[in-house]
Amino acid sequence: MTLSAEILSIGDELTSGQRLDTNSQYLSQKLSDLGVHVRFHTTIGDELADNVAAFRIAAGRVNIVIATGGLGPTADDLTREAISEAFGLPLELRPEALTHIESLFALRKRPMPERNRVQAMFPQTSRIIPNPHGTAPGIDVDVPQGCIAENHRCRVFALPGVPAEMFEMLDATVVERLTQEMGAGETRWRYHSLKVFGIGESDVEHRLPTLIARDRVPRVGITVSRATITLRIAAPTTTDAEFQQLIAPTVDEIRNALGDRIFGEGEIEIHEAVQRLLDQRQIRLGVIEVGAGCRVAHMLASLQSPSGSGIVASQRFASMSELNLGQECTGVTDPSKLQESLSHAAQRMLQTHALDRCLAVGIYPTSLEVASAELMPYADFTMCLARRGADTKSSTVSLGGHPDVLYHRLAKTALNFLRLDLVK
Ligand code: AMP
Ligand code: MG
Repeated sequence: MTLSAEILSIGDELTSGQRLDTNSQYLSQKLSDLGVHVRFHTTIGDELADNVAAFRIAAGRVNIVIATGGLGPTADDLTREAISEAFGLPLELRPEALTHIESLFALRKRPMPERNRVQAMFPQTSRIIPNPHGTAPGIDVDVPQGCIAENHRCRVFALPGVPAEMFEMLDATVVERLTQEMGAGETRWRYHSLKVFGIGESDVEHRLPTLIARDRVPRVGITVSRATITLRIAAPTTTDAEFQQLIAPTVDEIRNALGDRIFGEGEIEIHEAVQRLLDQRQIRLGVIEVGAGCRVAHMLASLQSPSGSGIVASQRFASMSELNLGQECTGVTDPSKLQESLSHAAQRMLQTHALDRCLAVGIYPTSLEVASAELMPYADFTMCLARRGADTKSSTVSLGGHPDVLYHRLAKTALNFLRLDLVK
C-alpha cells in the first residue's frame, strides 16, 4: 500500500505572505524519498477553529499528517490545543518534557517563564518527539479510531516551525518512526524527465491523451517553463532498475508520439542539447543576431566546450542596416527578402571564419515595442542556417508572448532550428 501524506503549515506569517513556506517543500522531498505520496499542502493561519478543522480534514484523507509551526509558548501557538480538540484528546503535563525545557533555561542561566510550561503539555496517548536544541518538543499521535473511518489509519506529527529544529527532529526521530513503525521507505518516488520544445502544452496532451490520466502508473505530468515543456514520469519503486523497467514503455510511447520534438532527458536545457551535438559532431558554429535580445550566442557561450567545437564566432547588430550587406538589406521587413539578406550574411561569415555552420537570427521586436503594445505582439521571426558543403536553410515563424518569456522563446526557437539540422 502506498502511504499518503498531507503537510500542514501553520502561522499567520505564512498565510499573509510575509514568510515563504519552505518547510512544505523540504518535507515533501523527504517524504517522497520514503515512497510516501504527498497529496496535499495546506497552510493555515493562527486561528484555533481553522486549525481544528484542518487537522480533522487531513486525518480523514491521508495516512500521515505532518504539521509545522504553532508549538511555541505564546498565545498564538495553537497546535497543541488544535490536535487535542480535533481528536478529543485532553492535554496532560509530561514531566520529562518539562524537565528538558527547564534544563534548557538553566543552561542559558535564565529562569523559565511560566508560559513555557505549556510546551510540556501533550494530547493524551501521544508520544514526544525530542527537540534537542529547542524548547518546543514535537507531538506524535495516532488518530483515535472514533475520529476517522473504520478502515482508515492516520498518524499525526507536529513539529516546530523553525526550519533548523524541524529538520533535525525529522531526521533524528520522525523518519525512523515512519520507516520502522509504518513501513515507509520500502519504495521511494523516482522521477525521469523528457524535455520538449516546439509544441504547445495542450498539443502534447492531445498527442498523449491516455498518458496524462491521473490514476496511471507511472504518472506523467506536464509543466512548462520559459517555453520548454517538461514531461515528468514518476513512480514509487524499490530500485533504479525496477524504475527504469517500469517506465520504459511510457518513454517509448512518448518518443513515438513526439519524435524529434524531444531534445533531451533529465535536467537539460535546449542550448545544452545543442552544445552536446556540436561537440559530438566537432562542429564550429558562428552566430549572427540582430536587434534586442540576442540570447543565442549568450546561451551557448555560457557552456564549456571540452573539445573546442561549438560556438567560435558571434556578431551582434542593432539593426539590419548595420549588417552592411548593401542596399538590399536596409529596412527589410518582407520575410523572403529578410531570409535572403540573413542568408548572405550567414554565408559570408561561414566563409570568412571557416565555420561548419552559421546561424543568423533576424530582427526581434524590441522591448520598447513589446512594452508599448496593448496586446502582446506576434512578430515574424526569421532564422537562416548556412552550412558548409550544403544549401542554406531558412525559416520564418510567427512568435509572441509575455516579454519575460518571449525572448527565451525566440532564442530557443533559433536553437531548435539548429538542433533539428544537427540531429538529421
Ligand atoms: P512557530 O513554530 O510557529 O513559532 O514558528 C517559528 C518560526 O519558524 C516562524 O517565525 C517562522 O519564521 C518559521 N516558520 C514557521 N513555519 C514555517 C514554514 N512553513 N516555512 C518556513 N519557516 C517557517
Ligand atoms: Mg507561529
